[in-house]
Amino acid sequence: MFSSIRSEQDAVAILYQMRWPTGFICPDCSNRTAYVLASKTLPVHECRNCAKQTSITSGTLFEKTRTPLHKWLHAIYTVATSATGINAVQLAERISVTYKTAWSILAKIRNAISEADHIRPLVGQVELGMDIYLRHPFMQFREKQYAIIIASTLPATSNRQERYIKIKFPNIPVSTRKPLCKEAVDAFISEHLCTPVDLVSVQYWRTPRAAGIRNIEKGLFDITKEAYSWLSHAHSGISAKFAQPYLDEFCFRYNHASKSEEVKFDILMGICLHQPPLPHDLQADAKIASLQPAFHSHSAG
Ligand SMILES: [Zn+2]
Repeated sequence: MFSSIRSEQDAVAILYQMRWPTGFICPDCSNRTAYVLASKTLPVHECRNCAKQTSITSGTLFEKTRTPLHKWLHAIYTVATSATGINAVQLAERISVTYKTAWSILAKIRNAISEADHIRPLVGQVELGMDIYLRHPFMQFREKQYAIIIASTLPATSNRQERYIKIKFPNIPVSTRKPLCKEAVDAFISEHLCTPVDLVSVQYWRTPRAAGIRNIEKGLFDITKEAYSWLSHAHSGISAKFAQPYLDEFCFRYNHASKSEEVKFDILMGICLHQPPLPHDLQADAKIASLQPAFHSHSAG
């Protein structure tokens, strides 16, 4: 779909198609007929039943934006499909906007990703690890360290691409000298895991190889290292205070890595339009209903 965007008109047409695939629906009264007022910059639909005016962008991430939509779509496509995303300096050059605008576009996309991730709990068997944010051998002048939690679903089949990960700062203070903070892990579980909780293992980064931990192709801590390395290369490092949305962006790309560019773009567009997840993402919800009650005790390394 993205390849067909050559003008602002194309971008509006694509947005319309994604937002109202079966035609206009009034957000207030669900009526399907409207007058199209074309006098404004973007077409506005006036509901024939309740007269509410709805622009193609209202209620979406693009509402009231002054940046042309085709530039937004270009940014979304790049964030969704490039292997490493894009930083504000690169995006500003790519779509010919100021650094400030590019920075704001990326921040909004990231926040949308964070919100979408927050309402999608991990389902099924989950393994969890606790690490220190940006533990780096060459890093100097480190006064404060921040604990971080990474969790991953274990694929039901041998297909590792079905994994879904989250990397989050605990929402309660954690002393990084403690090997594993149970309160932080419990808080993470109640916020990000689906009940019944099926926690297979809890690991702390120092534990070399705790007994009973399942072997997966890529260890949780290798993934966090990859995330930190991306943050330092693409964004010159981000302090813990501002890093959460960046980590969510990293996880978004990780979680959808095996999908086609078209699907990745569709998923991120859906997130930016604040629309419900696409059918293939609903598989996770279907699993919730079919889960058998099961609970594995925490096997803290
Ligand atoms: Zn209406």
